[in-house]
Amino acid sequence: MKEYLQIIKKHNLRNTSQRQDIYHHLKKSKIPQSAFDIHQKLKNIDLATIHRTLKTFEKINLIELNNFIGDVKKYSIKTKIHFHTIKCKNCGKTILIDFCLIEKFEKFIYKKYGFKILEHQLQFFGLCNNCKK
Ligand SMILES: [Zn+2]
Ligand SMILES: [Zn+2]
Repeated sequence: MKEYLQIIKKHNLRNTSQRQDIYHHLKKSKIPQSAFDIHQKLKNIDLATIHRTLKTFEKINLIELNNFIGDVKKYSIKTKIHFHTIKCKNCGKTILIDFCLIEKFEKFIYKKYGFKILEHQLQFFGLCNNCKK
């Protein structure tokens, strides 16, 4: 929350409770969220306000667009979120995986090679439920 307030202040924006709620929701979400996803959880905030807030947040670099899932705009807190995807090689359908087993591997690398791992990228490719038939 501290960095959120700092960034908001830096851009001379008012910290409204709606902005704060939307930020909070994005922060605790494990996977990117669309305006609609947020509205489902925060029903007291109308969709137009959520859209506007997401645009504002994106402009000030608080969140980023993860546009690889269809054409619905989904956002996540910048760099804080970490997830992997599976992409179908046949139809291009992409699915998010919201858990990660790589952290154990990172600990092993740290022990064996002394590297502190800061980040990793991993994407799976395969055939989706429809295409594998
Ligand atoms: Zn497919
Ligand atoms: Zn991971």
